[in-house]
Order: sequence, then C-alpha cells, then structure tokens
Amino acid sequence: MAAAEQPTVLVVEDEPAQREVLSYNFEAEGFRVSQAGNGEEALILVEEVAPDVIVLDWMLPNVSGIEVCRRLKSRPETRGVPIIMLSARSEEVDRVRGLETGADDYVTKPYSIVELLARVRAQLRRSRPSSVGLTLAYDDIRLDPETHRVYRADKVLKLGPTEFRLLSTFMEKPGRVWSREQLLDRVWGRDIYVDTRTVDVHIGRLRKALCAFGGDDPLRTVRGAGYALG
Ligand code: CA
Repeated sequence: MAAAEQPTVLVVEDEPAQREVLSYNFEAEGFRVSQAGNGEEALILVEEVAPDVIVLDWMLPNVSGIEVCRRLKSRPETRGVPIIMLSARSEEVDRVRGLETGADDYVTKPYSIVELLARVRAQLRRSRPSSVGLTLAYDDIRLDPETHRVYRADKVLKLGPTEFRLLSTFMEKPGRVWSREQLLDRVWGRDIYVDTRTVDVHIGRLRKALCAFGGDDPLRTVRGAGYALG
C-alpha cells in the first residue's frame, strides 16, 4: 500500500503489552502506527505525525486520557482527528463523560480487536476517505485511490507516484497547510532520509501536471509554513 493511502493511527496506552498488541494488529491491517506511553507524549506526537485516528486509553498516569481528549478537541488544528477512547470501566456515567469530552467513539475493555478495527474504519470513512477507497474530489479535480487515476475537468492527468501521493494528501484535507516535514513524513515515510528541498521539486512537478490542460494552479505556497490545496 502506498504511504499516502495508508492511514496513520496513534495508539496511546501506558501498558506496554497492550500497546504492542494494538500496534501489531493495526500494522497487520495496513496501518502506520505511532505509539505513545503517556498523555504528554501523545500530545507531542499528534503534532509530529498528524494521525488520521487516535486510539486513546482512558487510564493513563499524569495526564489522563480524558484530559488528552479534551485538549485535542479544543485545538482547531486537532479537533477533526477522530478519537476512540478505551476504558476498563463500563458504567454508563463514564460513557457519557467520555462523549462529553468530545471523544468520537468509546470501546470498553476487554474489547474485541475486530470490533475496535471496525470502529476505527468507521471513523476513517469520515476523516480519511481515500484510505477506505473512496474517490476524492476538489473543485474540478478527482482522484480515484483504487485505480490511481487523477482527472481534471474529465481529462486524465499524468502523475508520477510521488505526485499522486502528494495530491492525495492535499485532497484529504483541502485548505490544511502542510509543512515540508509533515509532507515528507506522510508521502515518503519516516524511515527514508529525503531533503526538504525534494518536497519543493515534487510540488513543482505536481503543479505542472495539474495545469497540463489549463486551469488555475490550485496549490498555495504559504510562506514560512508549507503548502496547501486551495
Ligand atoms: Ca492504562
């Protein structure tokens, strides 16, 4: 699976064995996994990896899962990231409290991994549609993640694989400003060393491809910050 179509899940769980089980299962399902062992780490990682979904344990030392959830949902830049809370408590009052903090869903321990994955996918349909194979559209541009085809005003555009992943990333979240580092992480992957100038080169190619049959350049350079679509 190409990096841009691969959804990233942030697993926040303080018990190493549980964290490993979750990570293993998400990786087996084609996810990229980032792990945090406590709330502070989770809040930092959210900025760094821009996850598509967060699986967040309720009981964490120091900063609790509820507090992490509340903070993420109060920030405009992270508000849209779906959060699924995990908890050993099953009382209805906790369920209500969990949802009041802004959690998008709630799974009670002991949970079935199959059910958790289904809940995660349901959230992704909303937050990261291309990862579940839905066509993305922006203005007169359409991107089909299943056939890897891109159309503009019904003409097929020729894009290299990197440009395709870049465009897919932009089209997931029109208007969002991506830094070069975030694009490197998302499109090239964290394990590969690539200079940030490489991003500029591929943005240039993407712009050229998008305007091959005319039309305005839909990509915006945001000085000191990065790039955005629209
Ligand atoms: Ca815990």
